[in-house]
Formats: sequence, structure tokens, C-alpha cells
Amino acid sequence: MASKFKYRGSLLVVGFLLILSVGCEKFEKIKNLCRNSARKESVNEKGEKMGQKIVRSDREWKEVLTPEQYRVTRKKGTEQPFSGKYYYFDGKGLYRCVCCGNELFSSGTKFDSGCGWPSFWSPTSDENVGESLDTSHSMIRTEVTCSRCGAHLGHIFQDGPKPTGLRYCINSVALKFEPESK
Ligand SMILES: [Zn+2]
Repeated sequence: MASKFKYRGSLLVVGFLLILSVGCEKFEKIKNLCRNSARKESVNEKGEKMGQKIVRSDREWKEVLTPEQYRVTRKKGTEQPFSGKYYYFDGKGLYRCVCCGNELFSSGTKFDSGCGWPSFWSPTSDENVGESLDTSHSMIRTEVTCSRCGAHLGHIFQDGPKPTGLRYCINSVALKFEPESK
């Protein structure tokens, strides 16, 4: 009799442990589901929050950019004039930041400046670019950067066409063209 109770008792304990472990597993699954759905709402496919500034280390940028993209965008370099792929280019669409995909310029504001670099008279939105004083190479210039990731894009000059009178002189290598959808 006593052994029968003991047998039933141990069965109960085993059952209880089984229920407990299955329960924990389910709880973990639910927790992960919640975590994933929360992530889907606020981040893009690269896992970066939309509209939020992107901060990466030099090493991380080196991993995702070509050496020339890295030199120009992260080290304030300049590509050779008349060498960039978007200088002799008149495709219709958007120019995005090569580092983070931020929308920067539209083909509608691109013009032939003769300077050797793609030129625009305005960004698509003032909020998407940043400006700062650049006194390097014994010159006083206004540097233009991507406001989302801080990438160096080029410089702004005051000799552009109407309506702004500005020339955003941009390195092709800092841009990624996205054709207009038909
Ligand atoms: Zn960017």
C-alpha cells in the first residue's frame, strides 16, 4: 500500500515537472514573440530605427563600405573630378546616402555645373543634411553631411542656379541612386 502511494507520488512529481517545463518553454516563446513584434514596429530590415541617428564605429563602417566609400564619407575625402559615376548621369530618381540610405537629393534639382562632381541646387529636405564650417586645405568652405549618419557628402557653394543660388557639390561615391518607379 505504502509503495503504491510512493509510486503515485513520484508520478505526480514527474507530471508536475513536465507541466512546469512545457509552461516555461511556452512562456519563453511568448516572450520572444512579443520582443520580435515590438522590434518589427520600430526598426527597419537592417535592425536600425527609422528616423533615428546611426552611430557606428570606424571598424563597423570599414566592414560595410568599399575603401573609396569609406575614405570619402567617413574620412572627409574627395573623389577625383569627372571620375564619379553620377557626374555624366541624368537618370530620374532619388539619390540616397550610400552609408545609411537617407534620402538626400532628387534628380529634379541636379544640374550640369561643369565642376566635375554631381551638383544639385537643393537637398530634398533641409532636415536630411547637415552643414558645418570646413577650414581644411587652406580654404573656407561649407561642408555638407548626411544628418542621419554623419557621412561627409561634399561642399556647398554660393554659385548655383535659381531658385536657391546654391551648388551642392557632392561626391558620387557618397550617393546611391534609386530610379523612379514607373
Ligand atoms: Zn547617411
